[in-house]
Amino acid sequence: MANPAIQDYQRPTDLLEALRQLRDLGPRAMALAGGTAVNAEPQPRIERVVDLAGLGLGAIAEEGPVWKLGAMVTVQQLIDSPLGREGFLGGALGEAARAMSGLNLRNRATLGGILATTDGISPLGCALLASDAELVLASLKGDAVEKRVLPLRAFLGYHASVLAGGSLITEVRLPIPSGDTRAAYERVARTPRDYPIVCAVARLAHKDGIAGNVRLALGGVAATPIRLDLAEFGLEKKAIRDHAAAAVEDGLRALSPQGDWMGSAEYRLAMAREMALRAIARCAA
Ligand SMILES: Cc1cc2nc3c(=O)[nH]c(=O)nc-3n(C[C@H](O)[C@H](O)[C@H](O)COP(=O)(O)OP(=O)(O)OC[C@H]3O[C@@H](n4cnc5c(N)ncnc54)[C@H](O)[C@@H]3O)c2cc1C
Repeated sequence: MANPAIQDYQRPTDLLEALRQLRDLGPRAMALAGGTAVNAEPQPRIERVVDLAGLGLGAIAEEGPVWKLGAMVTVQQLIDSPLGREGFLGGALGEAARAMSGLNLRNRATLGGILATTDGISPLGCALLASDAELVLASLKGDAVEKRVLPLRAFLGYHASVLAGGSLITEVRLPIPSGDTRAAYERVARTPRDYPIVCAVARLAHKDGIAGNVRLALGGVAATPIRLDLAEFGLEKKAIRDHAAAAVEDGLRALSPQGDWMGSAEYRLAMAREMALRAIARCAA
């Protein structure tokens, strides 16, 4: 363990044991997944870790209408799985996963860890939002495990408070989209290999140029990736060519991004408009 503050390491083999340990070890304990965050930034407050590696949360399986991905699935594992290789979401999921970081980090960072620490950009967070992803969360109720399913869009933004008190993400569920679904990932970055400044994932089905089941997720314009509800609503069952620009404009009006050293608020809004329209156009092509 590279973090010198860590005094105690536990590796439970079942979920109930892990949740109990997190409760009993108190506020100076945390769940350990890929370890990238805890090792990169020594957190003196954290003295004990509960490693989730023994809980059997590393599988990817198709079950009926959903893909189930364990919280310990790494980003690279996702890319190498049928979801990445066979182009789930028209390849947008794999593309967004590759954009998260270089290979070394992708081999360690897990879905659970990424979602627990989601920042405002997170290409993978955008792709999962556009996929209508749901999370399975486990917590202790009395002395038993209680599981609940929460849409990712309800989790993001509140993730710190949802996880406070030792809840764990155990699974990510992705509904399998209908065969006529198209999706595209677009991003602007300082270099082709860099983390994006702004990114967009569009997903829709279209027949004769009319959009259906529209999803549009943006990163880099708020504290977490977001869905652009008004744009989705404005494009639903409408001719893409005629309505995309106005729908995106309506969606963007609700945003007030913060500028930073990577891009001013105005730049982020302008890029969000451009990336969203490009992603929609690629879906419609
Ligand atoms: C060098 C470096 C570069 C990075 N660059 C980027 C980048 O470009 N883009 C980006 O988005 N991020 C970046 N990150 C952040 C990175 O995405 C996260 O550190 C990492 O993905 C977290 O995943 P992990 O599995 O390593 O989690 P860990 O580091 O093990 O844990 C991180 C946090 O999540 C919690 N956690 C983990 N799993 C669960 C779970 N199943 N349920 C509940 N809580 C859980 C932990 O308790 C901890 O608080 C970078 C990190 C490093 C070290």
